[in-house]
Amino acid sequence: MESIEAVVIGAGVVGLACARALAGRGFETVILERQGAFGTETSARNSEVIHAGLYYPAASAKARLCVAGRRQLYEFCATHAVGHRRCGKLIVATSPDQERLLAALQQQGDANGVDDLQRLSAAEARALEPELACTAALLSPSTGIVDSHGLMLALLGDAQRDGALLALHSPLSHGALGPTGMVLESGGADRLRFKASLVVNAAGLWAPEVAASLAGFPRALIPANFHAKGNYYALAGRAPFSRLLYPLPEAGGLGVHLTLDLGGQARFGPDVEWLPDPAPAQPIGGLDYRVDPARADAFYAEIRRYWPALPDDALAPAYAGIRPKIAGRGQPAADFLIQGPAQHGIRGLVNLFGIESPGLTACLAIAEQVVAELQLG
Ligand SMILES: Cc1cc2nc3c(=O)[nH]c(=O)nc-3n(C[C@H](O)[C@H](O)[C@H](O)COP(=O)(O)OP(=O)(O)OC[C@H]3O[C@@H](n4cnc5c(N)ncnc54)[C@H](O)[C@@H]3O)c2cc1C
Repeated sequence: MESIEAVVIGAGVVGLACARALAGRGFETVILERQGAFGTETSARNSEVIHAGLYYPAASAKARLCVAGRRQLYEFCATHAVGHRRCGKLIVATSPDQERLLAALQQQGDANGVDDLQRLSAAEARALEPELACTAALLSPSTGIVDSHGLMLALLGDAQRDGALLALHSPLSHGALGPTGMVLESGGADRLRFKASLVVNAAGLWAPEVAASLAGFPRALIPANFHAKGNYYALAGRAPFSRLLYPLPEAGGLGVHLTLDLGGQARFGPDVEWLPDPAPAQPIGGLDYRVDPARADAFYAEIRRYWPALPDDALAPAYAGIRPKIAGRGQPAADFLIQGPAQHGIRGLVNLFGIESPGLTACLAIAEQVVAELQLG
């Protein structure tokens, strides 16, 4: 049986960052991707925002890896010519009672090491963005946007330069964890069976399912798998804003915000649409990413709270992404669950569970943590 030093399951932005980190340390690395291209699932269906790191509880993995990952990501984008812009964002209170929440968010940001937040009065905010309606705002200058496809291409390029191989149409079908190492089998056109010393489960929406397919992995350590869809609407014409605009966060997401792409095109989203529990068994291409046009009314209402002049008929359904959640509707938001040998006792294996937002921002820092969990130095 063939032996491979390191196998990464999943070629999203996090899997590619992990493959880059492993190949860059000299490990022979193979990335197994069940789809016909890299980065076609959550990594291609998000807001493409480089988050500053203010939303998450202090000392959480999300806070730590977002703040560290943001700095690493800006540097990576600059050195690898990945399209990005540090455009900044405004988080807005739209009624006096929300100002308390804005102050709490600022405190959270300070505690997380986001040291450049500025509290603005309504007049100061409107001096920056004249069409904005708010009673107060928080300016986050270090928030930005990134070309997520360009980022993944650059991560893959580095990994391939260091010898990594990307195997497409290669779903991990099952594996066995034994005393002499891990044996993995991948399905698809060419069935492969091989031994691996290091395995990173970066299967995104299906990471719990991949862990469950590894015979010998303790079932009690696999978190429940929930999916929450986030829908986006595109704005016809140019938006009269140059910064990202966010309301205060809501349960399950960050609120229907305005993001801009690098071409200046505006889109609004994502909302939170919980999908039925439990998440369905891994359907290739079987996820329903369509945006229901009936959700438009709720979008107009949400957006007009901070942009009252949003014209009628200006929104069109655009695209959707699905959040890989390990806490369900009504439960407190879960942290990233990065599970290495110290947690599960299996040498050489790391599971990445619940890598929802800010996973894009944090991808390089998550990869560093994976290396640390594997004790590779
Ligand atoms: C609506 C939405 C908005 C978001 N906005 C932001 C944002 O603005 N900023 C930010 O920082 N983060 C954001 N995120 C989070 C970010 O997109 C994710 O954290 C990140 O893309 C996760 O990357 P990943 O590589 O873990 O997963 P994925 O991109 O889902 O990749 C997993 C890969 O594994 C493959 N796979 C699955 N099962 C198998 C198998 N058995 N064998 C082989 N391959 C398999 C899949 O095909 C897929 O390619 C957002 C997420 C959502 C849903």
